[in-house]
Amino acid sequence: MRSIATINQKGGVGKTTTAVNLSAALARMGQRVCIIDLDPQAHASLHLGLSPADSSLSTYGVLTGDVSLEQARVQVAENLWVVPAHLDLAAAELELAGEVGREIILRDKFAEDTAEFDFLILDCPPSLGVLTLNALTAAKEVFLPLQPHFLALHGLSKLLRTLELVAKRLNPTLRLTGIVYCMYESGTRLAAEVSSDVQDFFESLHASDSVWNRARTFNSRIRRNIRLAEAPSFGQSIFDYAPSSHGSEDYQALALEVMGFDPTLPAPRENESASASSLTFVD
Ligand code: ADP
Ligand code: MG
Repeated sequence: MRSIATINQKGGVGKTTTAVNLSAALARMGQRVCIIDLDPQAHASLHLGLSPADSSLSTYGVLTGDVSLEQARVQVAENLWVVPAHLDLAAAELELAGEVGREIILRDKFAEDTAEFDFLILDCPPSLGVLTLNALTAAKEVFLPLQPHFLALHGLSKLLRTLELVAKRLNPTLRLTGIVYCMYESGTRLAAEVSSDVQDFFESLHASDSVWNRARTFNSRIRRNIRLAEAPSFGQSIFDYAPSSHGSEDYQALALEVMGFDPTLPAPRENESASASSLTFVD
């Protein structure tokens, strides 16, 4: 089983859109997928048509109460389940402030869960607080959605330091395995420049056994596509809302790429793989 957290402490970069549509694509390809919505804004849950009335049957109840993942989990499509979020989750940070081991609650709940999935996808809020720490402690992989604009790198060192600390203190298996460009405007100079800055940034970090030495930039860029922005208000994934859109095409391609690599191996070097993009990060 693979467990992937979509992380970026910036809002509006495509974390939720990626968590939801990548999950839906994987589910349609026959993979059993469960999304864990860790954002109090519950965008991933709403995107899939869920809005739990009872806050205990949500990630709030899972993190602050005795509720199991199984009790809170809802099936939304063939092969696709969601543990939804509730607005009350916003209070979890404070409520858990004095609790010993508050960063490992989700990991313990994962360990108690007997259901089998091929993928657990954890959608995180735009902060590096206790909710995101629970995701980083429970997951093995991090995907970093980036919007290629000139502030894309801003705050990235802080994010990487957090990943490093979590790997050192709480979860030695954690690795940043994928960078997903979202809202990509192909052909623009800005997108090309930012992509090349991001590559330089990761290459400058150059460490052989670091949290990011397995990071790859996915060849599938998610193009800016209005259908992706419209789908959430219909409570549908892009595949139900606009199956022949660019958004649907791009997330299907991403899902194939995600299934096709071994997250325990470093990303291939540029000249070792014909399929590697010119932006593939080296270890
Ligand atoms: P985050 O979870 O990082 O805050 P979202 O996934 O919610 O970001 O995306 C922010 C906004 O941008 C949402 O309104 C979403 O519908 C829209 N959006 C995301 N990806 C795309 C895209 N490729 N094209 C157009 N709009 C997008
Ligand atoms: Mg989000």
